[in-house]
Amino acid sequence: MNARGKDVLDLTKKQMNTEIPKPVPGANQHPRTRSLVFLTWGLPVLLLTGITIWFLLHGGEGSFWHSPANGLSRAPNPEEKLNSSEPGGPIEVVSTIFPLSDIAKNIGGDKVSVMTLIPPGANPHTYEISPTQAILVAKASLLIRVGAGLDDFVDKIMSSISSRETIILRLTDGVDLVDGDPHIWLDPVIVKERIVPAITGALCRIAPEDAAYFRKNQFLYQERLDALHREIQRLLSNLEGRPLISVHSAWRYFCLRYGLKGIYIEEFPGKEPSPRWISTVVDLAKRSGAQAIFVEPQFSAKMAETIAQELGVEVYEADPIGKEGVPGFNTYIDLMKHNVEVFRKALGENRDL
Ligand SMILES: [Zn+2]
Repeated sequence: MNARGKDVLDLTKKQMNTEIPKPVPGANQHPRTRSLVFLTWGLPVLLLTGITIWFLLHGGEGSFWHSPANGLSRAPNPEEKLNSSEPGGPIEVVSTIFPLSDIAKNIGGDKVSVMTLIPPGANPHTYEISPTQAILVAKASLLIRVGAGLDDFVDKIMSSISSRETIILRLTDGVDLVDGDPHIWLDPVIVKERIVPAITGALCRIAPEDAAYFRKNQFLYQERLDALHREIQRLLSNLEGRPLISVHSAWRYFCLRYGLKGIYIEEFPGKEPSPRWISTVVDLAKRSGAQAIFVEPQFSAKMAETIAQELGVEVYEADPIGKEGVPGFNTYIDLMKHNVEVFRKALGENRDL
């Protein structure tokens, strides 16, 4: 309680104990006299009580009413009111790309409110965060990002949120990355074994009282990811060793998991490839007998189309990020199923290799 609130409370006590005259014996008082007594004494006491309660609820900075409801001990923050979710409201979660938002929703259920920073079609490697989004991130209880160069745009606001209450979860931390590639969410096994437990752990830290709920959702979602993994294994079992040429290295972990031979036109994620690298890739593609090149909605298809013409192969679109609200693309699991169908169609058994 703050000092101001205490003073007011003491004053009220004093007022009630010492200054209120003993009730006038008034069982037989005239109603008008009773009203007069109320106006003289009852009304000021009521008003003072009201003011006391108001101060207790709206006390100044540092009041315990503003303590975080999540049980984590954090340094007192002068800008506390800007931060964290409303007490009793859902946990505010912000993630950089849509698949992470969907995964967080599956674990957090109705205890979380999730927002995605990168709009559909935008490229996470080159995205710029807006000032409005920076404020939303600072207000959130949890920021979920991939790290390893995928969503570096959030680094620009790290200094402004490092002193606040936001928990920052970098999903590539502690994962053995292949050539530093950040696209780990496109392997459902990594999602099940690393990403889902990491998000569950963060939510349990923020709201330990809901840990059992999060753990139950984690288990149910992991079962669904297991089923997805088995289905993809079955659907792609006849395509093992086939070349998957992609402009971008998004499918590296997917190819490694399901036995496809990934060939990537980009030298480094998000960077323009050099002419020398392109000729190396074209040569590789020719020798591999590739029948298709994959582009992504987040990248220009121009380079892929030029290379596809040179190789005499078709261009297909696979989507590593998805779109909120678009059927077939608006859950991580549906998105993966959609992509598997694209790969099957492009690399199908009827292809003459
Ligand atoms: Zn990427």
